Amino acid sequence: MVSNPQIIEIAIPLYLDRTFHYTVPERLLDQALPGRRAVVPFGRRKLTGYILAIAEESRIDNLKEIIEVLDQEPLWTPAELEFFSWAASYYMHPLGEVLRTALPAGINIRTRKGSSGENAELTGGKAILREKFYLPGPLSETTRRPGARALEILAVIRETGEIQASVIRKRFGSSSPQLKRLVELGLAEVREREIYRDPFKNRTIMRDTPRRLNRHQQSALDTITENLGRHQYSAFLLYGVTGSGKTEVYLQAIAHALENGKNALVLVPEIALTPQLTGRFQARFEGGLAILHSGLSDGERYDEWRRIRRGLARIVIGARSAIFAPLENIGIIIVDEEHEASFKQSDGLRYNARDLALVRGGIERAAVVLGSATPLVTSIHAAHNGRLTLLELPERVENRPMPAVERIAMKGSKETISAALATALTQNIEAGQQAMVFLNRRGFATFLVCASCGQALSCPNCSVTLTYHRQRARSICHYCDYAVPAPGTCPSCGATELTELGAGTEKLEFELRELLPLARTIRMDSDTTSGKGSHERLLASMGDGSADILIGTQMIAKGHDFPGVTLVGVINAEAGLGMPDFRAAERTFQLLSQVIGRAGRGETPGKVLLQAYDTEHYAILSASGHDAAGFYQQELEFRQDAGYPPFTFLAAIGISGNVEQAVTEQAEQSARLLAAIKQKLKVRVEILGPAQSPIYRLRGRFRRQILLKAVTRKDLRRLLLAWRQESRTSSTVRVVVDIDPVDLM
Ligand code: ADP
Ligand code: ZN
Repeated sequence: MVSNPQIIEIAIPLYLDRTFHYTVPERLLDQALPGRRAVVPFGRRKLTGYILAIAEESRIDNLKEIIEVLDQEPLWTPAELEFFSWAASYYMHPLGEVLRTALPAGINIRTRKGSSGENAELTGGKAILREKFYLPGPLSETTRRPGARALEILAVIRETGEIQASVIRKRFGSSSPQLKRLVELGLAEVREREIYRDPFKNRTIMRDTPRRLNRHQQSALDTITENLGRHQYSAFLLYGVTGSGKTEVYLQAIAHALENGKNALVLVPEIALTPQLTGRFQARFEGGLAILHSGLSDGERYDEWRRIRRGLARIVIGARSAIFAPLENIGIIIVDEEHEASFKQSDGLRYNARDLALVRGGIERAAVVLGSATPLVTSIHAAHNGRLTLLELPERVENRPMPAVERIAMKGSKETISAALATALTQNIEAGQQAMVFLNRRGFATFLVCASCGQALSCPNCSVTLTYHRQRARSICHYCDYAVPAPGTCPSCGATELTELGAGTEKLEFELRELLPLARTIRMDSDTTSGKGSHERLLASMGDGSADILIGTQMIAKGHDFPGVTLVGVINAEAGLGMPDFRAAERTFQLLSQVIGRAGRGETPGKVLLQAYDTEHYAILSASGHDAAGFYQQELEFRQDAGYPPFTFLAAIGISGNVEQAVTEQAEQSARLLAAIKQKLKVRVEILGPAQSPIYRLRGRFRRQILLKAVTRKDLRRLLLAWRQESRTSSTVRVVVDIDPVDLM
């Protein structure tokens, strides 16, 4: 009798909507288990796929055999595979691609088996480092004398219990003969183990202990820990004004989870911008931390991945991709600054880590804490209807007042820095205090305009103007990096007189230096922070008082805690309001509130001067009046009237390509097909467009958009799935679906 061969289901990392069945040859039966990678024949190629499950049967005969299994341990747990499948289905993205996204790049450096096949666990070729460790041996005494230095070394080995060879070398110099002797005599044992590169080895961290919580913090913490104890999914919105001590609540909630044997996952918007936050975690928790920093090399990232997989890290901190970290036994997931748009991935798998945190929390039965001083309008709505439990920190710690905000109307004025702001800055510096000046545009002039023909210098590849950067003597496209020498000549008429319009941070810095020649100014924007560690250096000079004024774009608004800052200036506060995006008011309110919140976090109260042409817009009024409740109420009314989230669900279909005509035709064809399917399925979905995207040309591609709005996710999904089945795309055009889109530009 011939027994049926074992069939397994495999996901392939290609843009295919389905998974595949393969059979397992006899010799691989004990290895071909879910969560491991396998090499499989695919067409005429060999590909690495991911084993999802053992299949009962297959409708297809003549299944092919897998060739090899690459891993000796599973890469993922069943709960993680469930999570990835959920994400693949929700975002309508191939599971194989999702799994590939979830793996660290370093794993693919050179995946191979150890020579004997036995120690071929998660080997990634050169990514792995090994080192010798010494520990006390089975014998405690010997009649033969190992020598005085060897005895000294032995004492240290016994004292530490286990010590790395490199540490012994550092202390005793080269000690190989002594160590060898100790091992021969049975006084010490040697073991070889993998070691992990420590990306933060050059840092010194001061220990830090939990603070006494105020009553709001305590009550928030109590509610979270009570739920932690139940091991059930629970979701919170920790809504605390700037400087209210949210981080302290995170730290103590995590400590509680660890005490209960659970692990913690912490998501932050951009880890390079938050060295302070990671520093506070390192200061509070000894070891056991994995920090997934964007500055990690592939090898380092892979090391961290393996440390987490093996349970050696109990707290994982990282930006959005950390939501895929192989952390088991999760008790709590924190999403700090939950309102930040950077939690959304803008290409490939277009996931939102803030949303996925709730999903993973559900699968892991964990507590999920979304924290912000300026939550998403959507989160406020979810708190109103009970899907998130609201935890409020309405006051700053130690009863520090919120800063006083003065709005300065700039109508009719051509200055970058108003007289009022100039005076305030001068007085602040004279008083020996620090200031921040915010302008959400980099470069010197927003653009150059020809004085004779009136044309603005714009990018030949993108429908945007070029920004003039004076230090670099270039006009640059901020989207595709196209650059021309500047000031230069007008490309239309050849005239040499170009007028500078609009100011950026470079010009602001220039003017502030003229105004306050003695002040030590530094600038933080993507021009000054491209070097490794440059964020940290700039922030450190604010932290230690070696800078007086920090000038910058939205980078300076992010959660920094500088108690010495007593004055904040905001230039062109309404800059974001002109965006053709329904979230423009929300984003402006959030950004302004965050910037305002940088002032007066120490003992001296803070003051903010906010310059705007239109000082009466409700986003500006609410932010400057610390009236968040008023803002959310108005914004929710607007969203309801206009039919936008949280009252509807959105999906965007992006159609782009280099040939304009092909893009237009594809967009129209897609919209017609959607309309026909909508009729047939009788789903309630509004189809808007196809319209030109606000930035119609980007990096040479023409872009159109169809926006789908629905009252239920179910209708939206039914329409999209049916459309995808029937949709035919021409080879010159790319069509992508973005579920819950954040960037509509
Ligand atoms: P947020 O994240 O809400 O803006 P932080 O967590 O950065 O606020 O806290 C602001 C400052 O107050 C930090 O320096 C923090 O160490 C301090 N702090 C937090 N909680 C307390 C407390 N209970 N007592 C005293 N200081 C506190
Ligand atoms: Zn461009």
